[in-house]
Amino acid sequence: MMASKAKKLSPVLVLLLAVLCFVVGAAAGFLGAVRGNFTSPVDEYAEISRHGRRGSTAGGDIGGNLQIHFLELGNYYTGDCVYIKAGDTDILIDAGSKTSSVPTISAYLDNYVTDGKLEYVIVTHAHEDHYAGFAAKNGIFDLYECGIIIDFAKTNKDPAKGMQKSYLANLNAEIEAGATHYTAQDCIEQERTDFAVAEGINMKILDSYYYTNYSETENNYSVCMLLTEGENNYLFTGDLEADGEKKLVEMNDLPEVVLYKAGHHGSKTSSSDELLSVIKPEIVCVCCCAGSSEYTKTEANKFPTQAFIDRVAPYTDQVYVTTIFESDENKTFTSMNGNITVCSDGSRVWVVCSASDLVLRETAWFEEKRTCPAAWQK
Ligand SMILES: [Zn+2]
Repeated sequence: MMASKAKKLSPVLVLLLAVLCFVVGAAAGFLGAVRGNFTSPVDEYAEISRHGRRGSTAGGDIGGNLQIHFLELGNYYTGDCVYIKAGDTDILIDAGSKTSSVPTISAYLDNYVTDGKLEYVIVTHAHEDHYAGFAAKNGIFDLYECGIIIDFAKTNKDPAKGMQKSYLANLNAEIEAGATHYTAQDCIEQERTDFAVAEGINMKILDSYYYTNYSETENNYSVCMLLTEGENNYLFTGDLEADGEKKLVEMNDLPEVVLYKAGHHGSKTSSSDELLSVIKPEIVCVCCCAGSSEYTKTEANKFPTQAFIDRVAPYTDQVYVTTIFESDENKTFTSMNGNITVCSDGSRVWVVCSASDLVLRETAWFEEKRTCPAAWQK
């Protein structure tokens, strides 16, 4: 009797199971496609967790049609250098932190830039920790053929002196050699803001108040850029300060982003609530030498600052930092996450680190030097 009943019900059960399998399968597929799922879509990268994977990112096969690399700079000093591989297109944003960083940067780039050409170069602003590598003798402009160079529209630096003089000389030589040059404001005025850098990947130069208005600090002159691939957005604001971020939000229709390069190395004066509440970042990468006394002796204000951490924490705990100081006296450093690479296949995004795979809140430095924000307390 029981057997017969079970037999009678089985087609219904089979149908129910089939429907259930379909629903579960579809849900899993959807979840796999959403942003913030930091698993790799490729079987051989299955060991990559949401915290990334140990191992060298320099030239290693880490997957992704889009890769955004935050480079270590080979010294104790804070600075930015972001290399983006979008399909076959090579993009470099900044080349800090010192002229002596060039060999470290080029050794890394040469693993990827196999034809010696950077199709796009963005120089965010005229601070050494961002443009030293372009001003250097035998610098980036000497070592690579550059396609389109987009740089800051304003600076308070004297064009006849120091690093700005060297930068302009090298820039002009590169233009003479065939590079196309626009300032960020040229891009706005000529309605040349969008660059289709690779199939399905768009680079947009954002409008910014300080491309045309005076600022006391060079930081606000930073060229700001939004990279988009499908539903995924990636935001780079150089060292833009809070008042510049306020204008940036007002002047652009900013989307939520998968990745935000921490403004101004995780300074207390950038990554304002006004910006973060709009972009709601899922991953934040900080280019700095964590805890070094380069800019301040006040512990909470050393990069990445307590104020920055407190503001970012409600949105994400996926905060990565390139480098950490070892000794202020000897100016020694070591990798924190090391070279950080954010990879995407167009939908899924994963992070690969060359050193530790811990996010900031899991590090010994954070435990010792920072107060854990409520959002990160488990
Ligand atoms: Zn800087």
